[in-house]
Amino acid sequence: MFALTPGKAVPVGSGIWRLLALNPGMMSGPGTNTYLIAAGDGLWVLDPGPEDSRHVDNLAAASAEIGRPVTAVLCTHTHRDHSPCTALVKERFPVRVLGPAPLDDALQDHSWQPDEVLVDGQVLDLGGAALKVIATPGHVSNHLCFLHQQEGLLFSGDHLINGSTVVIAPPAGSMSAYLDSLRKLQGETLRAIAPGHGDLIADPAQAIASTIAHRLQREDKVLDALSRTSVCTPADLVAQVYQDVPAFLHPVAEFSLHAHLIKLVEDGRAESPEDGCYRLKHG
Ligand SMILES: [Zn+2]
Repeated sequence: MFALTPGKAVPVGSGIWRLLALNPGMMSGPGTNTYLIAAGDGLWVLDPGPEDSRHVDNLAAASAEIGRPVTAVLCTHTHRDHSPCTALVKERFPVRVLGPAPLDDALQDHSWQPDEVLVDGQVLDLGGAALKVIATPGHVSNHLCFLHQQEGLLFSGDHLINGSTVVIAPPAGSMSAYLDSLRKLQGETLRAIAPGHGDLIADPAQAIASTIAHRLQREDKVLDALSRTSVCTPADLVAQVYQDVPAFLHPVAEFSLHAHLIKLVEDGRAESPEDGCYRLKHG
């Protein structure tokens, strides 16, 4: 819908711009979307992106062009392609840093130290508009989405992205929580989704429903593979369950497969009697 041009702020709503970071790749698609949101006389930066001084230069240029100083940083979650640039933004602008509680695993930005930890249901005042905080654990346990209530625009971080499914890596990632968080969003009125990667998603209801259906179809494939095979670890099962996905992506798919297996144990449909091994539960 809007050009994904790196480095240049593109309007995606009234008082909302997207600035694409310079980190395209296998895991980040075209790159991380940083969003700029008008708030009072200032500008809030949502998901400042990876630690990259060129991106901060582009951010400063966008702020000057828009004519509003950067006054706050918000993060959906603290993976290294979303939050580390906060430190560089703080060097340039006197910002307040808002977002999830820090999380300690190997994939996290350990420099993340918010001034205020946001909680589910909190409504942030943008001065004439409001941003609702929606806790959406799943992709990672400290994940938040933000709903711009006047625009009906959901900033979805990595909960929903455009162009592919997201990786769910246990233990911080949880498939059960992910599906619950998707169903929770079905209770909100959404006009569009502004994802952490890729272009705007124009039909939120359809995107959410099809994502839930896709994950449940994958779960069926996991059950089917478990019923037909003697192998039992995620590494053994991945080629069968992700036959439709190119083999070079299987190491990444293995994380989400592990998340599916853990969900099946939680649901009482599989068991893991030995370390790392999963089997169907009978009886
Ligand atoms: Zn992420």
